[in-house]
Amino acid sequence: MSDLDFVSGGKPIAIERGEGPFLYATDGTEYLDAGASYACTPLGHSHPAVVDAVQEQVGDLTFVDSSYPVQAREDAYAALVAATPDGLEGAWFCNSGTEANEAALKFARSATGNSKIVAATRSFHGRTMGSLAATWKDKYKKPYEPLAGDVEFVPYGDAEELADAVDDETAAVILEPIQGEGGINVPPAGYLEAARDLTDEAGAALVLDEVQTGMGRTGEMWACQHAGVTPDVLTTAKGLGNGLPVGAIAVRDWIADGAASHNATFSGGPVVAAAVHATISTLVEDEVPAHAAQVGDYLVDELEAAVGDHVREIRGEGLLVGVEVKRGANRVARDLALDHQILALPAGRTVVRLLPPLVLEESHADRLVEALEGVLAPEAETESR
Ligand SMILES: *Cc1c(COP(=O)(O)O)cnc(C)c1O
Repeated sequence: MSDLDFVSGGKPIAIERGEGPFLYATDGTEYLDAGASYACTPLGHSHPAVVDAVQEQVGDLTFVDSSYPVQAREDAYAALVAATPDGLEGAWFCNSGTEANEAALKFARSATGNSKIVAATRSFHGRTMGSLAATWKDKYKKPYEPLAGDVEFVPYGDAEELADAVDDETAAVILEPIQGEGGINVPPAGYLEAARDLTDEAGAALVLDEVQTGMGRTGEMWACQHAGVTPDVLTTAKGLGNGLPVGAIAVRDWIADGAASHNATFSGGPVVAAAVHATISTLVEDEVPAHAAQVGDYLVDELEAAVGDHVREIRGEGLLVGVEVKRGANRVARDLALDHQILALPAGRTVVRLLPPLVLEESHADRLVEALEGVLAPEAETESR
């Protein structure tokens, strides 16, 4: 089996059940999920609070459109607005991350009257026409061009280049507070603050894409909270329904005013709304973000001690961790899965991305560290050359 087969599809592991940080294959093998679910299950697989809420709701009322008040939907909106930073008082639900960013770009246009978007190198914002236009990699874009909109890319993390690009014709600056797909890139201190100041001065919208970094992953509910920066638009999805397909856009009032015509048929449907309410309530009540911060620090310290000398860099925040290896992240992910029953994700060619459920305990982190040590130990590296 080639590396490519393993990463892009056709993994030889048929999963039938999940519980907490574990996934179980049809042959009974237990895998520690350190990223296979793309950050979509912050509470762990099939968390009882979410399962119960969803089962009850699907039996009572599976769907009615958003023009009718439904308790589950109202609870989900209230939980989301309470959980987003102060100043973000409006919200919409949608069905995915790309749809959330698509709406963010629309709202920035209607609120500013401008169309220019400034995005960053190595960004990933989704695969529909607008979000894709703000996504960096040509591989995702080329076959579908021309894409929607007028996008200028600036080097991620460089505040001076950002200052040169933002002007009074800018509708939005869209950034991930820490880049996920692009390789777990943490910007230098002060970068998000600079983006906030520049967009304020220019009258542009600051859109922070928290699709991967949100829902407690980095040790705060939202990664922008580490910098004390509140955007004009915050987008989220992935972990929002602990595995159910749902996204959201949270906005300041000046953004909401021009976006009245926005909607989607399935927006805030009762079943996903029940999942959102249960997920956010559990994250808050169980103080899951603080747990993620603590176990994340432990994991990074242990990784540094065990494999620090064999890798280029270990970086991230909370339980969003990237291990930059010297070569072949695909191969490392494959060996972790087949030899150690750990499911991790490559991000680019050289970064192994660890995005375990946030309920990970230190004992699980130990298992992860031991496995990475096994795969990255110099003997193992020489063997495979
Ligand atoms: C995954 C991701 C998206 C796209 O989300 P989908 O639900 O796949 O459309 C957008 N932005 C970031 C930062 C992501 O990680």
